[in-house]
Amino acid sequence: MNNPFQNALAQLSRATRLTSFPPDFLERISHPDRQIRISIPVKMDDGSLKVFEGYRVQFNNARGPYKGGIRYHQDTDIEEVKALAFWMALKCAVANIPMGGGKGGVTVNPKELSKRELEALSRGWMRAMSDVVGPQKDVPAPDVNTTPEIMAWMADEFAKATGDTTGAVITGKPLEVGGSEGRGTATAQGGFYVFEALQEKLGLPTSCRVVIQGFGNAGEHAADIWSKAGHKIVATSDSKGAVRNPNGMDIAALYDHKKATGSVVGFVGGETIDGTELLFQECDVLIPAALENQIREDNASRIQAKVVFELANGPTTPEADDQLFGRDIPVVPDILANSGGVTVSTFEWEQNLKGEHWSEADVFTKLKDMMEKEANGIFEKSVSLKTDLRRAAFVIALERIQNAMKL
Ligand code: NAD
Repeated sequence: MNNPFQNALAQLSRATRLTSFPPDFLERISHPDRQIRISIPVKMDDGSLKVFEGYRVQFNNARGPYKGGIRYHQDTDIEEVKALAFWMALKCAVANIPMGGGKGGVTVNPKELSKRELEALSRGWMRAMSDVVGPQKDVPAPDVNTTPEIMAWMADEFAKATGDTTGAVITGKPLEVGGSEGRGTATAQGGFYVFEALQEKLGLPTSCRVVIQGFGNAGEHAADIWSKAGHKIVATSDSKGAVRNPNGMDIAALYDHKKATGSVVGFVGGETIDGTELLFQECDVLIPAALENQIREDNASRIQAKVVFELANGPTTPEADDQLFGRDIPVVPDILANSGGVTVSTFEWEQNLKGEHWSEADVFTKLKDMMEKEANGIFEKSVSLKTDLRRAAFVIALERIQNAMKL
């Protein structure tokens, strides 16, 4: 099953079989509050006009304003955005931050646009959405292919449209325009705190062999943080291919290689392999950090990791989840593993609303406390319900959302 929203609903139905959520609540939480589709006209550099399709799905705001990133990708569509918005509602509840769930996107390959076209597209998205987003309504952020600079353009466009210059409408901004210390590395850093809280409980060694799919924002920072903590990155990939070295790779050198050539492929500190083989390398921890639907029914039997740690959103399908659970391979679910990103985004929103600027040490101290607490809570729930970590995380998130809706 590869429709991400159908996967999300299948996860919901699996998790709620274990408990007694009222059917009315489950029916309600299976449908987003609002789905918005917009046409964004952009004057291209060659003088022609091109219209791009953009989206915002506002899933649930019982616990606070909708919150979630904006994805630019040629394959992005409303079904994908809907699934990502649903996961955001659960993720914010798992992280126990005062936010609901939303997500946005544009069907576009941003690599085919000039910088001027990209700015026009981004400002066009915000102009069209400026009446439905806002610090108390819906607070977007970066996701795949959207950057701090794009967030700055969007914050500026929102200020022009509404007069609100607090910047609190959008997070992941550059530091100079109200961004938070630590936001760039927050997803990977938060993931690492979750990993450390669960490492021993999941039977992992002190020094792990780690494979990372995707060397973008989440993946490259994860490579840096895990390797500096004494783990070995034995393979990694991007959309062009993969590299591996069973002795571990020099991540700073790999980062320089990627910066110079645009890809991890050809890195001299490792052997270049076919990207499709990356997931099946032997390792202690496999970190999918690219796109959804990577570990599926047809390939899950080839996974050789001891633990799958989902920094990407939705990388494992429900059928693959069952196979991995059956083989005693724990999956640390996305809504816990990558929730550090939205947590620091929420810190940024809070700082903007209060006119404050917190130090990186303050940000990470708060983040660590929150991630450890929620990771331990989800582990205990999985033990008490005798189930996997994803179902346990879903149950905790749904209980929190249901309580808020009831109140
Ligand atoms: P990004 O665009 O910075 O990086 C994505 C990386 O994946 C790139 O290196 C790209 O080349 C690679 N990739 C694409 N297709 C691939 C394929 N088929 N095989 C291997 N690699 C491939 O995006 P990101 O921000 O790092 O996001 C990655 C994942 O993490 C997404 O699922 C995103 O939703 C999730 N996530 C990101 C954040 C964040 O703060 N960046 C927060 C939470 C979740």
